[in-house]
Amino acid sequence: ALIITDECINCDVCEPECPNKAITMGKDIYEINPDLCTECVGHYDEPQCQIVCPVQCIPNDPNRVETREQLHQKYASLVGQG
Ligand code: SF4
Ligand code: SF4
Repeated sequence: ALIITDECINCDVCEPECPNKAITMGKDIYEINPDLCTECVGHYDEPQCQIVCPVQCIPNDPNRVETREQLHQKYASLVGQG
């Protein structure tokens, strides 16, 4: 999963781009629900939020490293094929 750092400026451009609705406004900044983030696997070749973020504050979460296979399984279960 990816994670939004505290450099987020709450610009709101990433939220509508997420195909899994994993991004929501948190207490202070936007947040990614790691259980919903497939790093865009199953939908796009690249993480859409990373592409649109103007301040590049959405790195991979070092505490939630997943293989492509795991991300694919998450995608499958999210769309009801898991
Ligand atoms: Fe959503 Fe894709 Fe960003 Fe994950 S990487 S939060 S699935 S847009
Ligand atoms: Fe924050 Fe980047 Fe999303 Fe804008 S695009 S709300 S700066 S994480």
